[in-house]
Amino acid sequence: MEIACHLAAPAQRKPKPADDSALGFGKIFSDHMFLMEYSLERGWHDARVVPYAAIPMDPASMVLHYGQEIFEGLKAYRGKGGAICLFRPLMNFERMNRSADRLCLPGIPVEDQLQAVDALVSADKDWIPATRGTSLYVRPTMIATEAGLGVRPSTECLFFIITGPVGNYYARGFEPVRILVEQRFVRAAKGGLGEAKTGANYAASLLAAKKAKEKGFDQVLWLDAGRLEQVEEVGTMNIFFVFGDELVTPPLSGSILPGVTRDSVLRIARDWGWSVSERPVGMGQVIQAIQDGSLREAFGTGTAAVISPVGTLSYKGKEYNINGGRIGEIARKLFDEITGIQYGEIMDRYGWVHQAG
Ligand SMILES: *Cc1c(COP(=O)(O)O)cnc(C)c1O
Repeated sequence: MEIACHLAAPAQRKPKPADDSALGFGKIFSDHMFLMEYSLERGWHDARVVPYAAIPMDPASMVLHYGQEIFEGLKAYRGKGGAICLFRPLMNFERMNRSADRLCLPGIPVEDQLQAVDALVSADKDWIPATRGTSLYVRPTMIATEAGLGVRPSTECLFFIITGPVGNYYARGFEPVRILVEQRFVRAAKGGLGEAKTGANYAASLLAAKKAKEKGFDQVLWLDAGRLEQVEEVGTMNIFFVFGDELVTPPLSGSILPGVTRDSVLRIARDWGWSVSERPVGMGQVIQAIQDGSLREAFGTGTAAVISPVGTLSYKGKEYNINGGRIGEIARKLFDEITGIQYGEIMDRYGWVHQAG
């Protein structure tokens, strides 16, 4: 793929954040973005890296009315000797194409997506923060841009990538989260959009998350849309439980997002010889295991936090503590291993790290 590069003039460039400890998430954006358009006649065309700027849009653009949008989220890490490291980027690009199929958007060859991310993070390599735990977050996005209010798949789209430095999730140490098991709203039903990474799933989740926050919780635990009994995901992460000596996560049943971090945890734990299962987990079983002491740990997995320990579950009006509200040994070991590989400190025995630039 031919990528044109129009880099920002020095005077156009934004000041870089001075303090890595104040980065937060998704508030600061780097100097450039990647753009390319799609039309039925021309396919994908005009791939380019340009200065970060607003995107002019027709108010009739289909994405604004019917939500035809998908995205991805991955990070560029500052590795040994300043290397730019991406973690399993092909898994993100393959997932992008599966999401595209589900939302009737056109796919993009994974090599082209990789080339686009490479070109962009190379142009903005000075934006990759160096402090351990920080990174440059990369957000590929595809939207339907045809102007029209008829309900059908758009024949024109825009693919763009923006990036921005993000902070260390655990700058103040591990803080296990307080989770409300959601009893009324659902995130996704089988046959719906649950396994696609699309803004619509997030729109569906906002009200439950807002109400949970008002009650003092960090996030909600989503149950299946049928009987509200099987555990699906936690907030915007996949969920794992440690029952006795067994590491368990719900199977990819169609309404669960297939996380890259989830897959990495499963792979590493299996290689370590742990007992690992992808099987349905009922809320009844979770409460039973808390009460008989066999639930040792619970944690969420996702690119943002990598591993997020669950300290408290609130279910049907009762609060339950998990592992005394502390981070567990297994969560800690997996966190150290995955972040060690991401930052190039632990040998990459799986070939997961792609060096950009
Ligand atoms: C992105 C996402 C995840 C985590 O996926 P990773 O690839 O591990 O970052 C989990 N659940 C939902 C709903 C997501 O959107």
